[in-house]
Amino acid sequence: MQILYCFPALERLRWVAVLGVVWVMVACSSAPLSKASVSESDPVASAGTADPAQDFFRWVQAFSAYAHTEGIDDNTLHSAFDGIQYLPNAIASDQAQPEFTRNVWDYLDGAVSALRVSRGQAKLQQLRVGAVSLDAIAARYGMPAEILVAIWGMESSYGSNTGNLSTIDALATLGFEGRRGPWARAQLLAALKILQSGDISRAQMLGSWAGAMGQTQFLPTSFLAYAVDADGDGKRDIWGSVPDVMASTANLLARSGWQAGQTWGLEVRLPPGFDPALADPAVRRTTPQWAEAGVQTHDGAPLPMLVDSALLLPAGAQGPAFVVGPNFRTLLRYNNATSYALAVGLLAQRLAGGPGVQAGWPRDQQALTRSQIQALQTALNAQGFDTGVPDGVVGPATQAGVRQYQRSQGLSADGYPTQDLLQRLQPTPQ
Ligand code: CA
Repeated sequence: MQILYCFPALERLRWVAVLGVVWVMVACSSAPLSKASVSESDPVASAGTADPAQDFFRWVQAFSAYAHTEGIDDNTLHSAFDGIQYLPNAIASDQAQPEFTRNVWDYLDGAVSALRVSRGQAKLQQLRVGAVSLDAIAARYGMPAEILVAIWGMESSYGSNTGNLSTIDALATLGFEGRRGPWARAQLLAALKILQSGDISRAQMLGSWAGAMGQTQFLPTSFLAYAVDADGDGKRDIWGSVPDVMASTANLLARSGWQAGQTWGLEVRLPPGFDPALADPAVRRTTPQWAEAGVQTHDGAPLPMLVDSALLLPAGAQGPAFVVGPNFRTLLRYNNATSYALAVGLLAQRLAGGPGVQAGWPRDQQALTRSQIQALQTALNAQGFDTGVPDGVVGPATQAGVRQYQRSQGLSADGYPTQDLLQRLQPTPQ
């Protein structure tokens, strides 16, 4: 049974306003604040009081008691929680829904910049001759060294920007706030287990507001499952030891399905008249089947063998085309965003001396804002092309709705929403 508990919203509102956080107030009767949704089995649901600062510390106390029952010892609990701090910015970041979005080409320009490529190539050279060779680590896990270095470049600019927030403080704040409460509490418990294992001290356990830690931004549960001591000092140190960072990242990817010896994918050319509706993650082919349909490489070489590969048109039919295989989907396990996985693949390709994107991006197109996407979703729904609940985010349901609409209009069905499409759906009133 689900028990709904109503947090004293006004007190909370006053408190966070003092801390400079924008808070969207939700009527308690119809939609309780997310902290309010706790189940009977929730180990650390705490009642609100008139003093919200007290509420946080009470919550930490309750969590500490719960963690003790999960096997965390008193020393670890004292070192974790004696100096605990509430981080209002973690909540503000967690709730941020930016109005402006970036086109995929703008994102890739930054992610795979000339500077990031040259720095990554220098890092690759250094690590090949280091005490613990990167090539040996990569070979042990069946991973290309360039993919590991590309992820390192994407996650922390090669270790130079790992985030400087206390992971314990960040996760306790998110656990208390409750929007993603069960998730944050599981991560906080995992972080305590890491402290107890002696791999890292509380002061050095630093990362992002969202609890991602170290040079390749591991969540605590991923750390427990995949972190590796590769330099042999007895500690799994993804903050300070580059061999540990590389081996841990390689281990995570290898155990998430990376297939050794296979590329993530490649840029391709489509024949004239190719049906862009085939660019759908659910449509899987072998590369010989794509070749039969007229799909070619840019340099005329045969397509590498990939089974179960999909065609990707990240900017619709007017932009570059890629064939992506199972290893692309493994990169999505690291961070579930197509543009992220594409950036890692393309950066790795450049680090290995390969080309960047060959075809031109439709750079004259302006990205839809969040409210424009929402308007597009609402208009499609109203006309019978289901996109799900309008949320201002383009996902598979929106792409499917756009495709159906495009087909009904005799347009190229690439499922890619543009300003033109929005205008067609919502003609400006005369
Ligand atoms: Ca180590």
